[in-house]
Amino acid sequence: MKRTALVVSLLTVTLVAVVGFAIVKSQQDHKEKKSDQLSIVASTNVYGDLAKTVAGNKAEVSSVINKQSVSPEDYEPTNAVAKQVSNADIAFGNGLGYDSWLKKLAKTSKSTDTLLVGDDILHQKDGANPHLWNNPDYMIQAAQGLAKELGKRDPDNKAYYEANAKRYADKLAPVQEKIAAVKAQAAGKAVFQTEPVLAYLLEKLDMQIVGDDFAEAIEEGNDPSPAVLSDIEGKIKGHELKLFVQNVQTTGGPAKKLAKLAQENQIPIVKISETAPDHTSYVDWKLSELNAIQKALQ
Ligand SMILES: [Zn+2]
Repeated sequence: MKRTALVVSLLTVTLVAVVGFAIVKSQQDHKEKKSDQLSIVASTNVYGDLAKTVAGNKAEVSSVINKQSVSPEDYEPTNAVAKQVSNADIAFGNGLGYDSWLKKLAKTSKSTDTLLVGDDILHQKDGANPHLWNNPDYMIQAAQGLAKELGKRDPDNKAYYEANAKRYADKLAPVQEKIAAVKAQAAGKAVFQTEPVLAYLLEKLDMQIVGDDFAEAIEEGNDPSPAVLSDIEGKIKGHELKLFVQNVQTTGGPAKKLAKLAQENQIPIVKISETAPDHTSYVDWKLSELNAIQKALQ
């Protein structure tokens, strides 16, 4: 009897220990398991920044292109990135062919949905200028579109996502105000850009964009025609041009040559890039570009 009692109590102790361990283990598993939280992978830090604001603490957000040294249009994803995308719930990108690798990678995974700002939210046609983030209105629409998508997947937090999209729009107010201020000086002035990167912002400033054919050729990786080149050279030498926008992520000879000519002719040059400088928010990035344009036009 005593022996039996001892066995029973030993069994009880063991059982309690096993059950207890199992409970602790399952809590740990729960903590480590991230799949119950939504995950978003953005093609560039521009959209990662936006997604972080909209998703708040309800999703894991990562960006593939984080460094300014990488030009998104020439980007080739690694195997690790392929895994990152196929593990995500939402692949969030620019679209319009700008980051086509993202869609391709997302297609290989059944559980990953693609949400492209240009195609799915703004419903723009292929061939439209893909540098959408340079129009703050498009960014606000992108935030609303992402909030809608997140609300569909996670209806309990629909209002939270919508409020965050509103907060994102509010965050962009200083950029909108700065555009209005710079526009007073910039409207009607001739501007040239080595690539059509800043077009949407320059249009918001009512600037007159010249040399589009050059920018398009560079963007496509082609050489601009001699006629196009001499047209811009003439505008630089004649001081018709009031602002020269140089994409620092383009290293091609023709663009460099024109920048040198602009410098020699005292045409102000503003240097820009496709992706945000490292550790810089979208708002700070756009404000610094607008400040540079304002200063150049003084
Ligand atoms: Zn580009």
